Amino acid sequence: MTKIRVLDPDTVNQIAAGEVVERPASVVKELLENAIDAGATSILIDVSSDLAGITKVRVTDNGEGMTPEEAVLAFHPHATSKIRDIADLSAIRTLGFRGEALASIAAVAEVTLITRQRGAAALAGTRVLVRGGEVMEKSEVGAPEGTTVTVERLFYNTPARRKFLKSRNTELAHLYGVVENLALAHGEVAFRMVHNGKERMATQRSGGLLNAIAGLYGADLARTLVPVEARLPFLRISGYVSRPSESRGNPSQVFISINGRSITSRPIAAAVREGYGTLLPKDRYPVAFIELSIDTDLVDVNVHPTKREVRLSREREILPAVSAAVEEALATHDLAREAPAEPVQQQISPAEPQQARAPTAGEPEAAYTAGHRELALSDKQLRRTETEGRENLLPAMEPVGQVAATYIVAEGTDGTLYLVDQHAAHERILYEQVVEQRDAGAGSQELIMPVVLSLPPKDSAALRDAMPLLLGEGFVVEEFGRDTFAVRAVPAALGAIEGPETVRETIADLLSDTSRTTPNRREAVTCIVACRGAVKAGAHLTHDQQKRLLAQLARTKTPWTCPHGRPTVVAFDRRKLDGIFRRV
Ligand code: ADP
Ligand code: MG
Repeated sequence: MTKIRVLDPDTVNQIAAGEVVERPASVVKELLENAIDAGATSILIDVSSDLAGITKVRVTDNGEGMTPEEAVLAFHPHATSKIRDIADLSAIRTLGFRGEALASIAAVAEVTLITRQRGAAALAGTRVLVRGGEVMEKSEVGAPEGTTVTVERLFYNTPARRKFLKSRNTELAHLYGVVENLALAHGEVAFRMVHNGKERMATQRSGGLLNAIAGLYGADLARTLVPVEARLPFLRISGYVSRPSESRGNPSQVFISINGRSITSRPIAAAVREGYGTLLPKDRYPVAFIELSIDTDLVDVNVHPTKREVRLSREREILPAVSAAVEEALATHDLAREAPAEPVQQQISPAEPQQARAPTAGEPEAAYTAGHRELALSDKQLRRTETEGRENLLPAMEPVGQVAATYIVAEGTDGTLYLVDQHAAHERILYEQVVEQRDAGAGSQELIMPVVLSLPPKDSAALRDAMPLLLGEGFVVEEFGRDTFAVRAVPAALGAIEGPETVRETIADLLSDTSRTTPNRREAVTCIVACRGAVKAGAHLTHDQQKRLLAQLARTKTPWTCPHGRPTVVAFDRRKLDGIFRRV
C-alpha cells in the first residue's frame, strides 16, 4: 500500500470550492456574474436570513438560459461556454471563464437550477437539483425564459467552513457590497435586491453609472459628483469623483471597474487619491467611481480564483493617467455648485451645506480665534496677492457683507447665496502664490528690520536642522550667538509681512512637532507660510477688500478648498433657500 493516493472527485471539488466560495456573498457574486454573462437585462437577488445567518440566496435572470443538457453540464467542474483555450483569455469579454463556480457552489450546498433557453417552448424548461456535487433530480418544467439559481444549506457538509461565517449582519453587508459593485459596473442591467421579502436596493436599466450611483447611494450624493473623462490610445477612463467636502477615512468607497469587472486595486485607488492633491487632508479619501476600459490583451484576469484582482500591463502609464484625469476633472469643475453632468432620473434635492469644522491638528488654532491683537486687514496684505490675467473659476458673485468678521456673504448673479471663509480663501490664494514663486525661483525678500529669535535649546537645534530647507524656501536665517537667530529674509510671497509677530509665528509653526514629522516637509512649509500670511478670521474687511479677496480667490487654480482641504466657499442656491422657507 502506498501512502500517496489520488483524491476522489468529490474531495477535489470541496477543496476547490474553498477557493471560490468563502461566504454567501461569494455565491451571489458568481451567480450575478453568470447572469450578466448570459446577457440578462434584469436581475433579481432574493435573500432570506434568520437570526443564525443567511439561509437562502436566489438569483433570477432574464438571460439566454440553457438547454436541458447544458443545465446538467454547467455543474461539471471546468465546464464553461466562455473560453475554449488559454488564448481566448487575452480577449475575454465575459466575467466568468474558469468553469468552476457552479461546480464549487454545488459541492458545498444544495442548489436548484431552473432554466429555459431563450426562444424555447414555454414548457421546455429544466429543473436540476444538485446537492454536495451530486445531481439528485432532473425534470422538465414550465419556466420563464432565463435562469433561476437557488442556493440553500451552504457549507452543510463542511462544518469547518461554516464555523468561519460571521454574524448575519456582517454576511449581509458583504453581500450588499457584492451587489453594489456589480450594479455600478453594469448600468445596462436593472438590479433589484430583496431581503426577507423587503426591497433593499434597486437600480434602473440603462441609466448609466450616475443613475446606478443615485439608486444605490442616493441622489444627494449623485448630484454633487464631478465627472471624470480621459482617453489614451489604449485606455479610456471615465466615472465620477466626489467633491473634496465628501471625503472618507479610508479608501473603501473608491470603486474601480476594469472592462466591466469590479476589482480591488490599491495602486489605482491611490492614483485616484493622488489626483486630489491638497484638496483633501492627508488621511482622507474621496468617494469615487472609476471605470477603465483597457485593451483586453493588456489585462490579465487570471490572477485570483475569485477574479477580484487583475494584473495590468503598462500600469506605469495607467496610474499617472488616472491621477491626471481626476485632477483635471476637479480643476475644471465648478466645485461650489451642484450640477449633475447627466440628468439623474430620481427626484433630487440639493446637497447639504458643509458643516463648520474645528481646526485640525497642524492648523494653528490662532488663525480661527479673533481678538487678541490688531486684526484689521492691511491693504498691503491684499495687494501683494493681486494677480492678473487668469481665468475666473468661481461664478461671479458680489459681496453683501461679513458675518462674525469671519465669513464673507456674497450673492451670485442667479440669486445663489455664497458664504466664504475669509481665512481659508486667502490661505488658498497665498498658497498658490508661494508655490508659483517657489517654482519660479523667486527667492526671498529682505526684511527691513531683521526679526530676532531667542529659542530654547531644543528649538534651536531643530532650527539649525531645518536651515537648509528654510533657505530653499526663501528664508534667510542666521545664527549669531547662543540660541539666538536673526531672520533676515522671508519668501517673496510673504514679503509684505511687516509684523515681526507673523515671522515668529511662522518659524514656531515650522519647528512644531507635527510639521517636523510630516513626510513632505516642503509642502508643510508652504502651507504654514500661506496660513500665517493669510488674513485671519475676526478681521474686519471693507467692502472693497471683500471684493478683491473674492476676485483673487476666483483666479486661483483650485478656489474651492484651502490647502488643508477645508472648504473655502459653500453655496445655497435658490432652490435650497426656497426649500428652507418651504416656498416650493
Ligand atoms: P463560468 O462562468 O466560469 O463559465 P460557471 O460554473 O459559473 O463557469 O458556469 C458554467 C456554465 O454554465 C457557464 O459557462 C454558462 O454556459 C452556464 N451558465 C451558468 N449560469 C448561467 C445563467 N445564469 N444563464 C445561462 N447560462 C449559465
Ligand atoms: Mg461563472
